[in-house]
Amino acid sequence: MRGLLSQKIDIMVIVMKPGASEVNREDIVSNLKERGYGVHVSVGEIQTIIGVIGVDIEQKGELQDQFESLPFVEKCVSISKPYKLVDKQFRPQGTQINVRGVIIGGDVAVMMAGPCTVETEEQLMTSARIVKASGAHILRGGAYKPSTSPYSFHGHGVPALKMLANARAETGMPVITEVMDVRDVETVCEYADILQIGTRNAQNYNLLREVGQVRTPVMLKRGMSMKYEEWLQAAEYIASQGNYNIMLCERGIRTFETYTRNTFDINAIPALKELTHLPVISDPSHGTGKASLVPAVTLASFMAGADGAIVEVHPNPEKALKDGAQSLTPQAFEKMMRDLERIAPVVNKRI
Ligand code: PEP
Ligand code: MN
Repeated sequence: MRGLLSQKIDIMVIVMKPGASEVNREDIVSNLKERGYGVHVSVGEIQTIIGVIGVDIEQKGELQDQFESLPFVEKCVSISKPYKLVDKQFRPQGTQINVRGVIIGGDVAVMMAGPCTVETEEQLMTSARIVKASGAHILRGGAYKPSTSPYSFHGHGVPALKMLANARAETGMPVITEVMDVRDVETVCEYADILQIGTRNAQNYNLLREVGQVRTPVMLKRGMSMKYEEWLQAAEYIASQGNYNIMLCERGIRTFETYTRNTFDINAIPALKELTHLPVISDPSHGTGKASLVPAVTLASFMAGADGAIVEVHPNPEKALKDGAQSLTPQAFEKMMRDLERIAPVVNKRI
């Protein structure tokens, strides 16, 4: 951890006072060069600015104090980002996550599919067989369900985790499921291959730290009104504890639109690809809330650069305990997969 954080990834700017002389400037430049930093000088009409490149994070504060103590320096500012470990610059080649042989962040358009909620052994097993037959790579299913109402169904908990493990044993598909509580992390890790952090917990910092302590991959959903920078800092919480197996999931944000459940932010996908090395997953089911819109948004998200998608599929959406309106029928899922198969090569991916 210390080794990672002490990488030289910060940039600092020294602003000289208006009256500083050329000699003063050269003093600073030679001082910085002696210390091994890259230096960029920009001489303005009134003030000179010196950019310092390659500052060690752990020495940043010290260096700032030293230069600010000089009488001809006005201020010394760090212009680094508030996240480091998840920053693109940290691993420009990108991160690949191996989930029981399924590589997320490589050339496969990874499809995670299954019901919103694990209802019964039969419902889950049927769903698992259906999505597998159509080419899904990973099985989804909620055992712990966050709900806006305290009176609605909250999932079967541990029995549902066991059903997921059974479905994995039969189909060979790794499973993803949500963990909502710090106290459940250990148990969920016993059964799940990917831990999902839901939108409502995206800034639950204790939970983020806890999943950072384990090595099970984590899919961090976007908080429903989170900015990219806040989302990346939430991911940094996980990485700061040593778990770098993180993927980010765009699942729509709150806007003034009411026709759709949320507004799927397609911008997020290429933007995150610029900002971070972490794989990006799309969730068009929660992003739209309408099964009729899910295939189009799923395909669009892959065209925008997503590494994977997570989609709700139910054998009988009209009987689903949760999120029936946004769940694809087996037929609709099959059609979407065939369409994806045809267009994935456009972005150098396959299914
Ligand atoms: C889910 O994936 O079932 C879920 C509850 O999603 P979100 O946290 O994005 O609402
Ligand atoms: Mn759902």
